[in-house]
Amino acid sequence: MTDVQQLQGQCLCGAVTIQSRMESPALRACHCAMCRRQNSGPFFSIANDPLAVEVTGEVAIYQSSDWAERAFCPTCGSTLWYGTRHDGARHLSAGLFEDAGGAPLKLEFFSDLCPRGYALAGEHKRLNTEDTIALFAPKGE
Ligand SMILES: [Zn+2]
Repeated sequence: MTDVQQLQGQCLCGAVTIQSRMESPALRACHCAMCRRQNSGPFFSIANDPLAVEVTGEVAIYQSSDWAERAFCPTCGSTLWYGTRHDGARHLSAGLFEDAGGAPLKLEFFSDLCPRGYALAGEHKRLNTEDTIALFAPKGE
């Protein structure tokens, strides 16, 4: 049985709205230094089908590295997504959606970079820096 859901989200001020259709929504948390600096804690995103994402409103883009960009609302500053430039994938900020889409946490990236003062509870996959980089490194190079 598939569990397709239509999620509706918005930034803090409401200028940007995001709709996404997704199957069995799942959360991922990233502890890298850039995500923590931007979001003050881990960046929680919802895995989604990039073809099923609809965005309305003005969006500002900050290119944070050669391969990635971070989108935010130019009015209120809410984080909208982390995007990868080579494939146009947008990892939507879970906080835009009611109850984070009701999705369970499935994966932590850069788990070894999580600050000593807190930890994410529960049973889920934890990838350290080496595992995370191996997962995203371009294949065959
Ligand atoms: Zn806004």
